[in-house]
Amino acid sequence: MQLAAEIRDLHKYYDLGPVVVKALRGVTTEFPQGDFVAIMGASGSGKSTLLNVLGALDRPTSGQYILGGQDTSQLNDDQLSAIRNQMIGFIFQSYNLIPQFTVIENIGVPLQYMRGVRASEEDWCVELAERVGLADRLDHRPTQLSGGQQQRVAIARALVNDPEIILADEPTGNLDSETEAEIMQVLVDLNAEGRTILMVTHEQEVAKLAKRQLHLKDGMKVFEGVVRDGQMISDGEVVLADDADSPPSPISAPPDAGSDLYEVDDSGSTDGANFNEWNE
Ligand code: ADP
Ligand code: MG
Repeated sequence: MQLAAEIRDLHKYYDLGPVVVKALRGVTTEFPQGDFVAIMGASGSGKSTLLNVLGALDRPTSGQYILGGQDTSQLNDDQLSAIRNQMIGFIFQSYNLIPQFTVIENIGVPLQYMRGVRASEEDWCVELAERVGLADRLDHRPTQLSGGQQQRVAIARALVNDPEIILADEPTGNLDSETEAEIMQVLVDLNAEGRTILMVTHEQEVAKLAKRQLHLKDGMKVFEGVVRDGQMISDGEVVLADDADSPPSPISAPPDAGSDLYEVDDSGSTDGANFNEWNE
C-alpha cells in the first residue's frame, strides 16, 4: 500500500511566553493514496493545526511528517515549499480568492510560484474552470459570484498544479446545504479519480461522504475508522483522551478546561493573573 502521507507521534506546541498551548499531542496515523478522510473534533481540538502541518505550511514541534515518502524534517524551507507546491492543493472555508482577479486569474495564482510556466497555462486554467462548472464565468470577479461558485474557483485553483493531495479546511462551512452537496460532489469525484483528500469538518452530513473519519480531542486521536449506520468501526488503535472506559466523544464536547492542554513555562516570568485567564 502506497502512502500519500504519514505522521508519527506528531506534537505541535505554540509557545506564548508564560503559557505553552499543546495543540497536537502525539498523533500517529497513515493516509494511503486515494484516501478520503474527514478530520473531526470540537473547536480547539487541533484540526486546523494538523491540516497546517499536513500542508507543510507549518513544521511540527516534534515527531515525523512523511510526505510522498520524504521525511519533511530533512528538507529545508525551499525544498518544503517546492514539494508543497507540487503535491498539495488547498481549499479553505473562506475561499481566499483575490478580489481584483478574474476567475481565470485566480485559478492561475499557484502557477506563478512555479518555474517554467507552460505556454498552455491559460488553456489549462480554462479547462479547470470548465471542469468545476464555471465555463461561462471566466472573466467574472469573486464579488460577482455566489459562495458556491467562489468555492468552485478555489477548487480549480487547488488543482492547477495537479496535486496528489487536496487539503480542505471546512470547505462547505460558509455554504447552504444545497450548495454544500454540490461542492461535496466535486470532492467525491476528485477522490474517485484517485486524489487523496484530507478534509476538516464538524458536520456529520459532510463527514459521511468521506471514506474514513479521524477524530481529535485535546490534540490527540480518539477514533479512526469508518462510521456505518451510526456505528463507529475502528480501523486502528483507539487512543482515548482521558477515560479509557468511556466511549470516544467525537464531536460534541468542548475542549476540557484545566486539563494538561496548557502548561506553564517555569523558565520565564509567569504572570499569575494571565495564566488564570488562559486556564479558564
Ligand atoms: P481547531 O481547528 O480544531 O478548532 P486549532 O488547531 O485551530 O483547533 O487549535 C488548537 C489549539 O491550538 C487551540 O487551543 C488554539 O487556541 C491553539 N492555537 C491554534 N493556533 C495557534 C497559534 N497560532 N498560536 C497559539 N495558539 C494557537
Ligand atoms: Mg479550525
